Amino acid sequence: MVGCRYFHPVHLLTYLLIISATYASQGDRSPAHTQCLRHCHDNICKHDPPPSGILKNPKFNMLVWDCESECEYSCMWKTVTLFQMHDYAIPQFHGKWPFARVGGIQEPASMFFSLLNAAAHLYSIVQFRKLVPSIAPMYWTWHGYFSVALNAWFWSTIFHTRDFLFTQHMDYISAAGLVTYQLYAYFARVLIYRHTFYTRAIAFVTAFLFFLHSYYMLFVHFDFGLHVRVSVFIGILNALAWFSWSAYVWTKQPYVWKACLTLMLLFLCVALELLDFAPIAWVFDAHSLWHAGTAPLTLLWYSFIVDDCNYMLKSGRQAS
Ligand SMILES: [Zn+2]
Repeated sequence: MVGCRYFHPVHLLTYLLIISATYASQGDRSPAHTQCLRHCHDNICKHDPPPSGILKNPKFNMLVWDCESECEYSCMWKTVTLFQMHDYAIPQFHGKWPFARVGGIQEPASMFFSLLNAAAHLYSIVQFRKLVPSIAPMYWTWHGYFSVALNAWFWSTIFHTRDFLFTQHMDYISAAGLVTYQLYAYFARVLIYRHTFYTRAIAFVTAFLFFLHSYYMLFVHFDFGLHVRVSVFIGILNALAWFSWSAYVWTKQPYVWKACLTLMLLFLCVALELLDFAPIAWVFDAHSLWHAGTAPLTLLWYSFIVDDCNYMLKSGRQAS
């Protein structure tokens, strides 16, 4: 009979320990996890200094693995083992999958791929500077894009190394800054042949809205749902804008296929992230694969902006 085993007192206890989490779909809310944490805190962390067992990796202390976070980490795996033993789905903890840390790095794959993205931007800006004369239109606008992107990938690397509220907020805000700047770059590009007043007005409006959003998120209330909706809205607007412009100039500027392909593949990567599966080998989850996917797309995007800057230059335009 299904569920009969839970009538054994030991199994019943186990069942009670994890059943509420099954409904809540959150490992950190399961009684097994909270009890483990309480035990760890009361019996280990309250000792001054804590017994050496819990802090068995003192070199990790550099990455702020203190007694409490070591308790979180070991209790997370104890809870996962318990869930697996009873054939429950792998639970998430505080909205994240359980990851095996490497050298104290909390999400090694996402951290590595974030670094790879930063490297892709660094490599690409060097190529851009080699191939595009500094008098080309959009030359400095794309340098601005590089700076904003490097900042975003820097915080992404830090956040995936160690997840704290501060590093999380900096990652989210910096990523929103990147999509906002891409939208600004679109307007700067399509208004390039107009008076600079229009570009400056757009720069002012986008920067103002971005700082308003960041101020609200960081100092009033960090509404994660609102933040995601705003970022997705700007991302979709950005893609639609570049797609329509590409369709409009396709015959004269055939290289725009690079921009279209970048955006289409970017959407595929977003779709991959929506699959949100438990980490393969406790390392590779959908989010890390999304970061892996954006690194090669960076090269394609810069290849497009190199062609575009040189096209404008050949058309007799110079930076004003
Ligand atoms: Zn990330």
